Amino acid sequence: MNKLYEGKSKICYSTESKNELQIFFKNDVTAFNSLKKATYESKGVLTAKISNIIFKYLKNNGINTHLIKVLDDQNVLVKKLEMFRIEIIIRNIAAGSIVKRLGIEQATVFERPIFEICYKNDEFSDPLINDDHCVVLGLSSQEQLNEIKKITHKINKLLLDLFKKVDIKVVDFKIELGLDADNNICLGDEISPDTCRFWDKNNRKLDKDCFREDLEDITAIYLIILEKLESLNI
Ligand code: ADP
Ligand code: UDP
Repeated sequence: MNKLYEGKSKICYSTESKNELQIFFKNDVTAFNSLKKATYESKGVLTAKISNIIFKYLKNNGINTHLIKVLDDQNVLVKKLEMFRIEIIIRNIAAGSIVKRLGIEQATVFERPIFEICYKNDEFSDPLINDDHCVVLGLSSQEQLNEIKKITHKINKLLLDLFKKVDIKVVDFKIELGLDADNNICLGDEISPDTCRFWDKNNRKLDKDCFREDLEDITAIYLIILEKLESLNI
């Protein structure tokens, strides 16, 4: 296998098929644009298992996802996508950067989900951009952006429904999308506590904020999310 790309939390390998990739979930965790780093045994297994349950659920509910096959606890076979160089964020409840940037009180519940686009560029710390930046700078077409918005709001509704069943609030999350071999927009990357904020009914943080803010051991916290999802038998 040929390593194509090693990111902060995953490694992409080529496979025999030019349209497929193998993705390995690393045990590394980073925050604040990699200024804070650590490695936890079993973290990769936890994020992989959580993401796989969520991707299968989304696929069963009509979302085009990259997941082809779970290979083992830490590796998945996926459709190789031509990724949009953007990160899409949905915010249902105020937390993280929006609190600091706009002075909104943490835990404010938004009247409707807020859709944000960030330019995926570590050198510039993934800056927030608007629709015009996205289209005029050639990161996607207007039609693709409209479609991405529709898909993202659908994913948000599905995630809210899923996590409501286990009494967890989906505060915000980040997704990445790309074009598959048929030129269809497809959900890639991962959805896990590394890329989402999850709070329990008492607003206890059950996600990467435990690492960012040195609150609790993230492997114990991620295990709570995994066990709750597994209890749903989806
Ligand atoms: P980062 O690049 O931010 O450090 P990761 O460590 O998660 O992030 O690396 C995974 C990389 O693989 C990301 O750049 C992501 O955009 C890319 N990626 C995820 N899914 C796919 C896919 N199906 N096809 C092609 N690239 C993908
Ligand atoms: N997020 C992510 N990767 C990024 C930036 C954000 O997965 O590069 C997720 C983050 O975990 C949170 C949501 O997107 O669930 C919103 O993040 P925010 O803008 O608040 O950024 P933060 O201050 O957490 O980096």
